Amino acid sequence: MPRDPRYDILFEPVKIGPRTARNRFYQVPHCNGLGYLHASAMAEMRGIKAEGGWAVVNTEQCEIHPTADSSPLVEMRLWDDRDMPALELMAQKVQANGALAGVELTYNSYAMASLYTREIPLSPSHLPVQTGNRDPVQCRAMDKDDIAEFRRWHRNAAERAVNAGFDVIYVYSAHNLSVLFHFLSKRWNHRSDEYGGSLVNRVRLLREVLDDTADVIAGRTALAVRISLDELVGAKGLEKNEAEDAIGMLAELPDLWDVTLSDWSNDSQTSRFSPEAVEEPFVHRIKKLTTKPVVGVGRFTSPDTMVSQVRRGILDFIGAARPSIADPFLPKKIEEGRLDEIRECIGCNICVAHDELSVPIRCTQNPTQGEEWRKGWHPERAAPAGSESGVLVVGSGPAGLECANHLTQRGYSVTIAEARGESGGRVAREARLPGLNAWARVQEHRELLLKPRANADIYLESPLDAEAVLEFGFERVVVATGSEWRRDGIARYHQHPVPGLDMLPCLTPDDILDGKRIDGHVLIYDDDHYYLGSLLAEQLANEGRKVTYVTPAGIVSSWSVATLDQHRIQKAVIECCDAVHVNTALIAADAGKAVLECVFTGRETEIVCDAILPVTARLPKDQLFRDLKARKEEWAQAGIKSVDLIGDAYAPGTIAAAVYAGHRFARLLDEETDRDAVPFRREMTWIEDYDYGAR
Ligand code: ADP
Ligand code: SF4
Repeated sequence: MPRDPRYDILFEPVKIGPRTARNRFYQVPHCNGLGYLHASAMAEMRGIKAEGGWAVVNTEQCEIHPTADSSPLVEMRLWDDRDMPALELMAQKVQANGALAGVELTYNSYAMASLYTREIPLSPSHLPVQTGNRDPVQCRAMDKDDIAEFRRWHRNAAERAVNAGFDVIYVYSAHNLSVLFHFLSKRWNHRSDEYGGSLVNRVRLLREVLDDTADVIAGRTALAVRISLDELVGAKGLEKNEAEDAIGMLAELPDLWDVTLSDWSNDSQTSRFSPEAVEEPFVHRIKKLTTKPVVGVGRFTSPDTMVSQVRRGILDFIGAARPSIADPFLPKKIEEGRLDEIRECIGCNICVAHDELSVPIRCTQNPTQGEEWRKGWHPERAAPAGSESGVLVVGSGPAGLECANHLTQRGYSVTIAEARGESGGRVAREARLPGLNAWARVQEHRELLLKPRANADIYLESPLDAEAVLEFGFERVVVATGSEWRRDGIARYHQHPVPGLDMLPCLTPDDILDGKRIDGHVLIYDDDHYYLGSLLAEQLANEGRKVTYVTPAGIVSSWSVATLDQHRIQKAVIECCDAVHVNTALIAADAGKAVLECVFTGRETEIVCDAILPVTARLPKDQLFRDLKARKEEWAQAGIKSVDLIGDAYAPGTIAAAVYAGHRFARLLDEETDRDAVPFRREMTWIEDYDYGAR
């Protein structure tokens, strides 16, 4: 289909200094847990985005010197010439697909503890590092010699970046992750010399580094600045007006302004707490301060919102990290009028979480993300079917739907049987909880793709048992029947049932999602530690119930630290619940009460309540699989070649894990696999002292 002319404006070329971007789609720098350690994978992932139509594709932050080492996070490095091949490879892959390659030079200061190098990070003032672990490391306030050294390191890195072939070189002053940002914000800069105090002074180092970088690159590449506009902490930190004044002072120095909020949790807000284009009130005046192009983000997935941003003069480039992760081919799909095929980001921050966990990126919506190089998975391409087999997928949750989606893309004939009256499994039900409506895109996207395909059939209200499956006789059977929440309190704190849960109404999350309710005071016991306990608390409180939230962890929804919204979740739970007890476990129940203990002292307390809702562990719903396995001798006669178990029915996990499991099954069907082999390519460390020649 030709492109809708409404979107023509998104495909206009835009000049960035000496380079020209082919359109307005701009992949801003984003971390991904691949970095220097998995450099081929990083380069392949970026190259595919360029293939998908992005005009500019950037690296993640790229450390310029060992004194600011971000380990255990895995970012890019440009400490010396030996780091250049990884960056050169990335630039080449991006440019080979017609995009400009950018690199974000970074000096982290307070943000990282240099745990690998053991060097002392330099910073504006003597303050401890701001790492998540609160590492016992303090930064050293820079004197004039340190500032001169830092400027030299930055110049060296800029020269290497030019030589590595980049088109855009970034000076980074954003996100509470960069020394230049720390100089800019009065919260982090306590200096009394010409680099501290007034805004002119706090901007001084940024101006100097911009001048230095412009000097080094000498028009050979474009010069970009990434700057944060607000820390959202009020007058004690950087605020919009001050940031605008700073931009006004430097307006024409760079070739491009890339504007964000600080810290990262404000810039990458989850959809649970913020809509698309949430940064507009901060960004909307920037274009009035400079003639240079402006790029900003806002989890943009709607082409109409993108057009509106450009037409109203808010942005020149549509910046995207997460939307480019969820769909590396977003620009191409808009260009080719294939809007129905866009895999919209759901704003869950699973991508962010795995960078935070220092492992390769993954994405709930895009199961190929991070797997492009090591497994050879392309987000848009599917291998032809390996046989004529008909496939029965039992269950239409994230695993079943993605499995059917990719199998039909390969050309298999697929029948999906779903017990309930709607498809989508857990994601359809969870998306009805407060703030999670964007998550329904997991199911909607796949349904939209499957609907027009002649080789896909979906039957709702079709619960299957082993007898029925044997009767149908599909050659391939995939069981994706999901999981159910436990009712006995077993999870991480308890490995045996909590006594007395049968003495009062005990509801599971499945009961609540199915609409069951108990009036009165509900005690939620969260030993799951992800989002569901907090959402059920909100849901029940919104309906007018008194809710007490109890968790053995020290904070509410502790895993959500990785998704950057734990602090927002804790606030929501504090505000909606009658009481919140952390470091507290449910140890027994009786009619009308729960018995709790302090996880440190064992001190017991009792709480009067009408019902208990344990959000603990889940059990796989694998009865169908086990029944079929028990009747294996009947398969051949029924025409069945294989029966496989995937997703939550194999082992309960995240929605991202279920989508991945469905996709992986579909990729591997009729392919040779060796269960004894490592199932992907690996980047191996070059062992300096090993004699490879003698091997
Ligand atoms: P996953 O996350 O692994 O995709 P879900 O729990 O989201 O798992 O989805 C599993 C789906 O399977 C649910 O919609 C459920 O109704 C359906 N299902 C479970 N058992 C059967 C069955 N025996 N026959 C058909 N559908 C089933
Ligand atoms: Fe979006 Fe979630 Fe994918 Fe990240 S993991 S890109 S937030 S869908």
